[in-house]
Amino acid sequence: MNITRILLVAGLILWSASGCQGAPTDQPPKRSDDGKTPETTMTKNDKPAMPPLNDEEKRVILHKGTERAFTGKYWNHFAEGVYICRNCGAELYTSKSKFRSECGWPSFDDEIPGAVKRQADADGRRTEILCAACGGHLGHVFEGERMTPRNTRHCVNSISIVFMPPGQKSQTQPASQPAKTEQAIFAGGCFWGVEHHLEHTPGVRKAESGYTGGTTRNPTYREVCTGKTGHAEAVRVTYDPTQVSYEQLARLFFETHDPTTANRQGPDVGTQYRSAVFYATPEQKATAEKLIALLKAKGYKVVTQLQPAGEFYVAEDYHQDYLDKHPDRPSCHVRVERFDTPATDQ
Ligand SMILES: [Zn+2]
Repeated sequence: MNITRILLVAGLILWSASGCQGAPTDQPPKRSDDGKTPETTMTKNDKPAMPPLNDEEKRVILHKGTERAFTGKYWNHFAEGVYICRNCGAELYTSKSKFRSECGWPSFDDEIPGAVKRQADADGRRTEILCAACGGHLGHVFEGERMTPRNTRHCVNSISIVFMPPGQKSQTQPASQPAKTEQAIFAGGCFWGVEHHLEHTPGVRKAESGYTGGTTRNPTYREVCTGKTGHAEAVRVTYDPTQVSYEQLARLFFETHDPTTANRQGPDVGTQYRSAVFYATPEQKATAEKLIALLKAKGYKVVTQLQPAGEFYVAEDYHQDYLDKHPDRPSCHVRVERFDTPATDQ
């Protein structure tokens, strides 16, 4: 690990350590008198009326949260256009000031004049940036890094902004249509811990604990525990592929269980605790094969099985969100960094 990388990782840790610091002005989209949100009307100051924020958008924009690096829509997006505030529609940045910083978030070296407000972050070290029009949290600004001649980096959460191609300033209705989702199934030992890590990943709509890969129908936990049904404890993830990629989820899976122990994770022994990827498409299979090859090249003796996805049986209710319901229970699934390079498929 060279010094640049150490600094970058330290920066990421500091960044992600910034917590909720109280809500700024909560400005819901303007409503008409009958209480309904207008469709695509323009507000008086020529801003598009934005649709209501979803929970993840509220977490970042209103409660000063941070999306995970390399998970947003725009960190690797360089089309020509304008980026507007997701909360109020104000124009914030143009693509001309966007540059590649490789930090995992959209980076701009200049704002549209007057569009961005700066204030000392509650952490006492950084400078927070907010939409000057509505106070929505955008991210932080850093100076003196010498990344561009302007020597400034606005590090912005993708989720706080919406890209508008030229000529489409008033037409886009981001997040108003339900996003198309995809599914992935992973087995990595006790499903409580696997589900916990996947469920708390931005872009993941749902992670369910269940059973798959066996020979009986509608198995119960007791039956699966005997090891005689052939099922693995597994997690089915429903995710928005525009927010998080299959590769990112698969990497998380390989880093949150031990893919080198056959039919065993820690104290849990038996075929139901095997490491397996149940792929739904040839692309998912190819991605899993690629990651296994990367790990093998690094010396890991990976035993993870690749199997086509079959019937998935959702486990009993008390297994769902188990670690959220029992925060006192330690998880045996701890993330260990095993890949040095970020995902390349977004
Ligand atoms: Zn705004």
